[in-house]
Amino acid sequence: MSVLKINISNLPEGIHQRSLEATPEEVGLDNRFAKAVIVNATLEKTSRQLYLKAECKAVGNFTCDRCLEEFEKEVVASYRVMYVAGDRSAEGLKEDEVQVIPPEANAIDLGEDVRQFIMLVLPQKILCKEECAGLCPTCGTNRNTSSCDCRKEETDPRWEGLKKFLEN
Ligand SMILES: [Zn+2]
Ligand SMILES: [Zn+2]
Repeated sequence: MSVLKINISNLPEGIHQRSLEATPEEVGLDNRFAKAVIVNATLEKTSRQLYLKAECKAVGNFTCDRCLEEFEKEVVASYRVMYVAGDRSAEGLKEDEVQVIPPEANAIDLGEDVRQFIMLVLPQKILCKEECAGLCPTCGTNRNTSSCDCRKEETDPRWEGLKKFLEN
């Protein structure tokens, strides 16, 4: 069990709010994450099942893929899970958002789901901002903060090829 768990023994039917906190290490996030991971959970319990809505927040230090600057970014992920009490035979349930828990379980563990959903919302290319201008390919100047003179002389490599073709 991770530290991100919610006690469900004797949980009355109805809606319950829980706020959980863990360190990135406790959640199993990589070392880009440095601050506390916060999970706001809403549980809806009925006689037969438990419905969870989780809002997760983590803060990481990332390197921009375009300008190579370090920046801090809040990563927000939310997900839903339906917990159904049952035995192994109930595992035939195929929907991703359904998890089978033993009828005698007195807690649900959110740790692994929180880790997975946070990693899932991280884009492949992480940019400091959507409109990041990146580095000058010629001199390496960070175009977000300063300009250089290379720009005017730059030619599109595709035109370069065409020019050669026309010259031949
Ligand atoms: Zn950038
Ligand atoms: Zn330049």
